[in-house]
Amino acid sequence: MFISMIPGALDEQVSAVEEVIRKAGYEVHGISGTERKVVAAIGAGDTYKLLETIDQLNSMPGVDKAMRVSTPFRLVSSERHERARPVVVGIGDNKVIFGGDEFVTIAGPCSVETKRVIMATAKSVAKNGAMMIRGGAFKPRSTYTSFQGLGQKALEYLAEAREVTGLPFVTEVMDVRDVELVARYADMLQIGTKNMGNQNLLMEVGKSGLPILLKRGFAATCDDWFCAADYVASQGNENIVLCERGIRTFSSMGPNGVRFTLDIGAVPIAKAKTFLPVIVDPSHAAGKRSLVPAHVGAAIGAGADGMIIEVHNNPKAAKSDSAQQLYLDGFTRLMKGVPALVKASKALSI
Ligand code: PEP
Ligand code: MN
Repeated sequence: MFISMIPGALDEQVSAVEEVIRKAGYEVHGISGTERKVVAAIGAGDTYKLLETIDQLNSMPGVDKAMRVSTPFRLVSSERHERARPVVVGIGDNKVIFGGDEFVTIAGPCSVETKRVIMATAKSVAKNGAMMIRGGAFKPRSTYTSFQGLGQKALEYLAEAREVTGLPFVTEVMDVRDVELVARYADMLQIGTKNMGNQNLLMEVGKSGLPILLKRGFAATCDDWFCAADYVASQGNENIVLCERGIRTFSSMGPNGVRFTLDIGAVPIAKAKTFLPVIVDPSHAAGKRSLVPAHVGAAIGAGADGMIIEVHNNPKAAKSDSAQQLYLDGFTRLMKGVPALVKASKALSI
């Protein structure tokens, strides 16, 4: 940590700062510039204790700014494991590896509305390159009057779709009380954008032992997102796949804009700062079918390990996210272009 003093800070103000640092078990190194002094906390003291002092330091007389150098997340940091660690979902012949050699496509409807919707969609996407199925059983809708999902019934339908296609499935869990139920059916648990900061839920899914798909909160920084992954990992579960799904920016505004801005830079950042696989959700970022292919191309170009994409056998009649879900034949066409893009993306380097 560096503490930059204001120009003209008094010697006793600098000494008081040094005292706080020493108490946290760190050594003090002073740097005197022409205008101001900077105090560096160096060594292997109690990082958490030192971080707890950051507010205190920032409010001390004579201090301009106390800045951390180390990352606030620890467990999923690439400092712990330099090489990326693949995450395996499912068992047997149809197991899926995120962060391996293959680009992983997860596809399916936004919500599991009926058995027909999930079966027809799952069968079609399975034939056309999807390696996993998606579908919401518990839906985090913005209005309470909207369709909330079929709950357990949807989990049963998803399990049937897995039986027929052989593909594992991921579905969202929104509530600590539902983790045990959803974990009984699903191959992977999804934490949605609205729940990324729900620490109790993060720890509960961590305890389930299942692989976790952790979406980035739409107003979360990358560090917030990696700290959320740390909560899951704190329960001994490091099988986490990160998912960039778009964030709120001014560019998202207006009827012709995207719903969220896909933060493409976050993909290589997440891969550099953590050892976790990173995928992209082009559907929720785009918000509109016609914008989805561009988002897929960008995601692959950015080096994503896979994507989770919404596909519906009859999007016009969908009870949620009707405008962004691809038609079955649209998905089939889109997937034809994916292998060449993946290959081209691997050739990009500096
Ligand atoms: C979803 O994938 O169904 C979903 C609700 O996504 P998000 O949490 O990213 O909005
Ligand atoms: Mn959706």
